[in-house]
Amino acid sequence: MEENKYLKQLQAFPSFIDKEECQKFCMTNENLDVMQINIGKMCNLACKHCHVDAGAVRKEMMSKEVMEACLDVFEKDDFKTLDITGGAPEMNPNFQWLIEETGKRKIHTIVRTNLVILSEEGYTHLPELYAQNKVEIVASLPYYTEKDTDRQRGKGNFSKMISMLQKLNQLGYAKDPELVLNLVYNPGGAFLPPSQESLTGEFKRKLDHLYGVSFNYLFTITNNPIGRFGDFLERSGNLTTYMNRLISSFNPTTVEKIMCRSQLSVSWDGTLYDCDFNQALNLEVNGVNCIQDLKDIALRARKIVFGNHCYACTAGAGSSCGGATA
Ligand code: SF4
Ligand code: SF4
Repeated sequence: MEENKYLKQLQAFPSFIDKEECQKFCMTNENLDVMQINIGKMCNLACKHCHVDAGAVRKEMMSKEVMEACLDVFEKDDFKTLDITGGAPEMNPNFQWLIEETGKRKIHTIVRTNLVILSEEGYTHLPELYAQNKVEIVASLPYYTEKDTDRQRGKGNFSKMISMLQKLNQLGYAKDPELVLNLVYNPGGAFLPPSQESLTGEFKRKLDHLYGVSFNYLFTITNNPIGRFGDFLERSGNLTTYMNRLISSFNPTTVEKIMCRSQLSVSWDGTLYDCDFNQALNLEVNGVNCIQDLKDIALRARKIVFGNHCYACTAGAGSSCGGATA
């Protein structure tokens, strides 16, 4: 498997699994809160840091049958939040059905969007669909300046993202308490994110002052040394420096709160993983590994499949799909 070249590269570093805290918190909770579903690897962008290696040529797409199995298990096992990701999840042909269905079932739903897709032909009606169904939006915005954002996301995309944030605000996002709009920041290079609290204040001031844009929370996420970011580290000779930075910043207090302890990650074909990073590395969960099989079996606590890529979740203030954890 091509992706496992990253695991091999990372084996040269001190073992994450051997750490005392990782042994102590290696099991998931009995009851899980978040089901994260990756509904396709196709994306309209091809960002430099993408751990999924998503892009226009990727064809993997979750079918409606797998989506239905996810929703059934979600309700049976009393998950609290459905977190939809990709690629650009909007590009899945069953996406609109999924959002309408979660709306009908009153499921708290998050969509992770790159914003740019929402201004492309065939997708411009989606912001209204999100608002009607009270979808929580998590939008990645690398920075509040055009130069830094376009460097990560491609030329011309910053202005499209700002226009879309303005539209979401007009629809009531970040104004109406039921319409939550969160932003995601990840570093543009081989360094750890700055403090989430101080960056939130900075983003709020700048985006309001320069563009009249408001949002609820900003999540800082540490880049994982796999996928296209792993390739960049290797090409630029930064892999060892970056890994040593993550390892020397290991924060034992973050291990108890790593997101895989309270979530299940489902891939486009229904295979189960502990998180989206393990999904990108083809590291399947221990135990029942298919969403369809979970329809008739009770969900149980399972031993998490750790690897040295996990240092990215436990460095400094910690990192998860919901931002810093410490
Ligand atoms: S980081 Fe997100 S927006 Fe960028 S290529 Fe990957 S999936 Fe697409
Ligand atoms: S990379 Fe995945 S399995 Fe490892 S600590 Fe982070 S969330 Fe858990």
